[in-house]
Amino acid sequence: MPTPVIKSLRIGEYEVLTYLVACPRTGQAVIIDPAGEARRLAQWARDYEIKYILNTHGHPDHTLANAELKELIQAPVAMHQDDDDFFASEEGKAVSTQELHLPPPPRADVRLSHGQALQVGDLRLEVIHTPGHTPGSVCFLVEGNLFTGDTLFVGAVGRTDLGGASLQTLLDSIERRLLPLPDKTIIHPGHDYGDTPASTLGREREENPFITDFILDA
Ligand SMILES: [Zn+2]
Ligand SMILES: [Zn+2]
Repeated sequence: MPTPVIKSLRIGEYEVLTYLVACPRTGQAVIIDPAGEARRLAQWARDYEIKYILNTHGHPDHTLANAELKELIQAPVAMHQDDDDFFASEEGKAVSTQELHLPPPPRADVRLSHGQALQVGDLRLEVIHTPGHTPGSVCFLVEGNLFTGDTLFVGAVGRTDLGGASLQTLLDSIERRLLPLPDKTIIHPGHDYGDTPASTLGREREENPFITDFILDA
């Protein structure tokens, strides 16, 4: 299987990790979670043909540059249908403006669903719906690399105190949809909150207390 080119930048006051994932042969690529600084991101991605701007979820710190980056690079914005709906609702807008103090994301151009696959050059990118941190949180699986957004961090999981979140739903998502993946799957989280920026599913299965204590021991 092709080995994707993976680059990351740390963006904004919430220090979101914005990723670029590219097919080495064709130069086709996606940007995951454009968290701000749209012009810098466009410059960063200038050597690639961006097929999609992807959101792991609709929280505004992960989607802040959606609109401006879309204008600059002419790529459609995609997020899970449940977050496209939630963040257009009054409840979702309040999470953005009152809890996170940022404007809600614009409506998506492409509404993703669980199990959907996107072709990016030679890369196959699969959408895994992992609700809990938000109703429409997803992880993106690309050739053994898992981009987990705020669902799974190195040594932790995403916060579930915000509107629309549920810790039990989040743990169920990890148990049913992530733990069945191979141990060597590389985890690329939405924030660098752990002792390393990336991890593996095998290591998280051994060391992440939310998995060891709340899922495997439950
Ligand atoms: Zn979030
Ligand atoms: Zn986040």
